[in-house]
Amino acid sequence: MLPYTTIPGVTVAKLQTFIKKMPKAELHVHLEGSVLPATLLKLARRHQIALPADTVEGLREWYTFRDFDHFIEIYMVISSCLRTAEDIELITREFLQEQARQNILYTEATFTPYNQYMNCQLDFQPQMEAVNRARRWGYQELGVQMNVIMDIPRIIPPDQGDRVAGWALEWFGGGLAALGLGGPEVDNPPEKYRRAFNRVRQAGIPCVLHAGETVGPSSIWSALKVAESRRIGHGVRAVEDPALVEHLRAAQTPLEVCPTSNLCLGVYPSMEAHSLPVLMESGLFITLNSDDPPMFNTTLTEEYLRCQRAFGWEQEVIQGLVMNAVEAALLPEEEKAGLRKKFLKQFAAL
Ligand SMILES: [Zn+2]
Repeated sequence: MLPYTTIPGVTVAKLQTFIKKMPKAELHVHLEGSVLPATLLKLARRHQIALPADTVEGLREWYTFRDFDHFIEIYMVISSCLRTAEDIELITREFLQEQARQNILYTEATFTPYNQYMNCQLDFQPQMEAVNRARRWGYQELGVQMNVIMDIPRIIPPDQGDRVAGWALEWFGGGLAALGLGGPEVDNPPEKYRRAFNRVRQAGIPCVLHAGETVGPSSIWSALKVAESRRIGHGVRAVEDPALVEHLRAAQTPLEVCPTSNLCLGVYPSMEAHSLPVLMESGLFITLNSDDPPMFNTTLTEEYLRCQRAFGWEQEVIQGLVMNAVEAALLPEEEKAGLRKKFLKQFAAL
């Protein structure tokens, strides 16, 4: 942790303004899960695909989270509308515009090209080239930087996981920062893709797995043992195993906590019941993230605002969490030093 200066007497209103303006970094957000209703409508019209609603308002209502099955339904409809490289470039550009609007200067976005490969016979290469065109544009025009974590969707057979690992080997360093694992955690442990993770790890590619969200501590232990997961996507249920909490604390393995997502998916009934304050008091390395923002009716800015209200966070805590995300970024040390400097400069000017 870096030293911070507390400003005494900062009111909640001032803190909220601070949160909106401050530089941010986000490490757990899904590219496909960030498609806005208006964009989905545009894509569906482009490909003449019927949607459950044909106006932005109607779609926004349909987007409102109901339960896990409904969440997967939205996800699959979005994926079925991503039929060409141009579609991928469009959603990536719009994603970066939204990140820029929130002053999110650095993002590691999870991307699941396998879905488009399976649903729309869209090869991986043109998908990644499209993402890279948008990335370059975002950096030059908006001043926001993004790298990709490509994930294996947990429902696919192990040999298809090997296929995704092959793509990771091909594109590592060309916009790709890590291999991930996402999708339904129950009955799909990391062990299922042990071979894929071994292959990429041997090539020096970092792995970042979702774990400890709908399955408890065993899933996190597996992510650490099978893939040496550099960070844990969610990881909030680590709190159920004191030995795991101690392990994560000692190793300072970053957790990518997404509170609103956890509430929507029923991991915790309320913000007050969330494990986040306990995890922080236990000395774990925490970052704050939005996961699938429009589906959970949130943004990264909103996550900070909600947590500030629920947990009474002061400015130094908020700034500390932002800087944690910078420190946990999968960047070469030289690049990270540049990013750190940029963030501290913006914080100093606030
Ligand atoms: Zn996620």
